[in-house]
Amino acid sequence: MADGRELLSNVISSQMDLHRRFGGVVPEVASRRHVERITAILQEALDRAGVRLGDLSAVAVTQGPGLVGALLIGVSAAKALSFAAGIPLVAVHHIAGHIYANQLVEPLRFPLVSLVVSGGHTELIYMPAHNRFERLGKTRDDAAGEAYDKVARLLGLPYPGGPHIDRLAREGKPVYSLPRAWLDRDSLDFSFSGLKTAVGNLIRQEEKANPADVAASFQEAVVEVLTEKAIAAVKRTGVTELVLAGGVSANSGLRESLAKRCAEEGIRLRIPPPVLCTDNAAMIAAAGTYRLWDGQTAGLDLNAAANLPLG
Ligand code: ATP
Ligand code: FE
Repeated sequence: MADGRELLSNVISSQMDLHRRFGGVVPEVASRRHVERITAILQEALDRAGVRLGDLSAVAVTQGPGLVGALLIGVSAAKALSFAAGIPLVAVHHIAGHIYANQLVEPLRFPLVSLVVSGGHTELIYMPAHNRFERLGKTRDDAAGEAYDKVARLLGLPYPGGPHIDRLAREGKPVYSLPRAWLDRDSLDFSFSGLKTAVGNLIRQEEKANPADVAASFQEAVVEVLTEKAIAAVKRTGVTELVLAGGVSANSGLRESLAKRCAEEGIRLRIPPPVLCTDNAAMIAAAGTYRLWDGQTAGLDLNAAANLPLG
């Protein structure tokens, strides 16, 4: 990436085919595949960008949070690159990366609120400026993406289930009434485990339930809560920018619902293109550039952190 915005190459090596047969990510399998692939991926990224190692001015890497085995492979490789090329090392928080995916489309405008919806996180983050993150709310149990994946499993759909449910939901009608966890009045926290259980009960009780209608009902319940809490966070902080981030941003129902509500409320909504919604290195480079410009570099003693806090 050049100048924090211009994307020179973005090589993604997906392990999904490997994990699909286990119905989820097996940490040890993921780490091993990272070791096997990382050198070739780094070379391909340089080749596609048309640059050499000596042309780089810094290397950014995800420090956490996540599976520590997989994180360690990235951190070790980035340290080696930093040392070999004599360039600064920048440690990036994975969720900061998801938010900065939007920077690759158009510069972020502060202050803003970001709704982060991914496989492991569902959070509302307030950003007064670059590199500053204040958490307004988070999930108390399952993440939105996790709920999608678990409900997909109940419906016998392949992993990761989010895109499959999204597609199926468009063929059905939200005829089943499922719970919305608003939690305490004014809370910007989320909870999705009750909804997942309710879908499980529905499938058991109504053997003839049409899977497309179940998917549509589930999607409507998730999307309604995500949308209304995001709008509430924007109103409470008085910002006019709402930035969507994470793998579930690819969800068509969520995109439509947020677009409609933001138009009604006069809020500017930004959604990354699908390829930048799920995990990618470009978003880490984008977030890393702003940390570098802020002088926030890391030493060669950098360690991966499975539970790294944001900000
Ligand atoms: P985290 O970023 O929290 O560590 P992750 O990196 O595993 O988690 P992402 O890559 O951001 O997560 O997103 C993957 C998740 O997004 C999966 O749970 C997947 O089911 C979900 N997802 C992808 N596309 C869609 C979609 N169209 N609708 C709903 N969910 C989707
Ligand atoms: Fe992610």
